[in-house]
Amino acid sequence: MIGKSTTQAPNAGASERQPSWQELALCAQTGAGFFFPEPGSSVREAKQICLACEGRTACLEYALENDERFGVWGGLSEKERDRLRRGTGRRSGNRA
Ligand code: SF4
Repeated sequence: MIGKSTTQAPNAGASERQPSWQELALCAQTGAGFFFPEPGSSVREAKQICLACEGRTACLEYALENDERFGVWGGLSEKERDRLRRGTGRRSGNRA
């Protein structure tokens, strides 16, 4: 602003908070179609996007805490989240 000191950067005073996972969400840039596919459709593309998403861990925690039943969240499908909730997420080869 004219007549005022400009010793501070334009965003000085703005919150230095960490961005929320929603702000980091790559799915917000790609659209929801990949993440809520028709039943029986592949979720591979969504999972690949999630792997590169900085908000992935928080996203998965949110989905588990809020019992999100549909779509890909945090890189996991509905079935994978269900197995994780039930504690049956063992892969073959982990058997005793
Ligand atoms: S982890 Fe996947 S579903 Fe979650 S915010 Fe990131 S891109 Fe979206």
